[in-house]
Amino acid sequence: MGKIRKLAIANRGEVAVRIIRACQDMGIETVLLHSDVDAETLAYRLADERMAIGPAPVGESYLNIARNIDAAKAAGADAIHPGFGFLSENDDFAEACEKARMIFVGPSPESIRLFGDKISAKKLVESVRVPIVPGYNGDDQNESRLLAEIERIGLPCIVKAAGGGGGRGLRVVRDMAGAKEAIESARREAKSAFNSEKLFVEKYLDRAKHIEFQIFGDSSGRVHSLFERECSVQRRHQKIIEEATAARLPEPLREKMAKAAVLIASEAKYRGAGTIEFLVQGEDFYFMEMNTRLQVEHPVTEEVLGLDLVKAQILTADGSAVLWAGEELKPRGHAIECRIYAEDPDRGGVPSTGMLHYLSWPHGPGRRFEFGFESGDAVTPYYDPMIAKVIVWDENRPRAIRKMRETLSECVIFGVKTNIPFLQTILRHSEFVDGTMTTQFIEKHFKNGMPPRESPEDIETVAEMLLKSPAAEEASSHPSPWAGVRER
Ligand code: ADP
Repeated sequence: MGKIRKLAIANRGEVAVRIIRACQDMGIETVLLHSDVDAETLAYRLADERMAIGPAPVGESYLNIARNIDAAKAAGADAIHPGFGFLSENDDFAEACEKARMIFVGPSPESIRLFGDKISAKKLVESVRVPIVPGYNGDDQNESRLLAEIERIGLPCIVKAAGGGGGRGLRVVRDMAGAKEAIESARREAKSAFNSEKLFVEKYLDRAKHIEFQIFGDSSGRVHSLFERECSVQRRHQKIIEEATAARLPEPLREKMAKAAVLIASEAKYRGAGTIEFLVQGEDFYFMEMNTRLQVEHPVTEEVLGLDLVKAQILTADGSAVLWAGEELKPRGHAIECRIYAEDPDRGGVPSTGMLHYLSWPHGPGRRFEFGFESGDAVTPYYDPMIAKVIVWDENRPRAIRKMRETLSECVIFGVKTNIPFLQTILRHSEFVDGTMTTQFIEKHFKNGMPPRESPEDIETVAEMLLKSPAAEEASSHPSPWAGVRER
């Protein structure tokens, strides 16, 4: 216990900054393992030490296990935090850390392996009688067999890569004529992105919400449910806006899902932070997958529960107790996160790269900004074009939506184009405001996943109406004692 004095960060950008900040709070020294092009970044400037691990291409730096391990070892680190993305869900990396006698801040390699294969995860979940989306998980991967299974399951279906992640290796099949091509292209993507051609098929639920539970296995072996987040606002299967807790999730269903999440993680003897993703359609919920890492959207959980998940991860990896008692955890108010991307809406959302001449984040009560860039830094084409995450907290959901709109309208980003206008359009949309959106939201309302040149006229008025009416306050999942009181 208390062995971690120096922690290496095998990541970059805003999550590297997030981890450095947690270490500063805990009195732990940091070593940033960075690629050559990341020498001019905020994380680089904030870390106590830095080690270059190779050139910009991820295969030669951030995804290269040996280079990360060697650099961390050479710097004398006792532990490695992988952040999210990159090597965070790589069981070989977790194992290599152990072999090199460094603590991997995350679950065991076995847990990563078990949940990293979506098929083995579904089998475990089925064994504890938590519902899974009906489909085909078999070993027979012949195209003719997969086609027959699609016919049996019934359209629409979704073909998925067993080793998939990040919205890749997924293909929705809406008619049999397109089924063959869907299988072939999912297989190609699976092979190149995950080095495994294995596919499975699920019934495609097209009226579902994406609701995920944050769970945490502490060092005593107890698994805590840290409540849920809703991430239904997605473009091409990737989340853009996330909230805690979920809008319109009935309490009995929330309890059932929390129990299921804890059961799954306990069955796997899970340690550390993890997220169990479900689809919710009507009264039914279905396990989709488990992510064995810190999630991009973890701040919304932190805001409603008042805790620090990165600190909890480090304490747990170090064999120490977490700093909360399970019983006292109760969400308060509502938090929303928007992912700010450097993208060009006029060119179909392609990354907008270049120098960030000036950045200004409008701080204020209940506003939090997670970023990896400062004025003068550049958004390069090598990595994910997410510039920052803006997180707001307020007493209830309508107020949090309004605060997010205000906050985004005051963010200043010069040098690249961003998705802020698109986010604003979504935040004003009546379906988002009343909380009934499903994962089809963007596809349904925005052609090509892009904002319209001109917003439909009724969007603003419906949203304004809802925000101002006492009924909207009541529609919040956690009504405030100030319900009905106007703020301004
Ligand atoms: P990844 O690991 O690549 O993120 P997931 O399995 O988590 O892939 O799915 C990503 C998103 O795709 C989900 O949040 C959901 O919107 C959609 N999706 C996945 N499976 C289904 C399904 N069976 N029915 C409807 N939507 C699905």
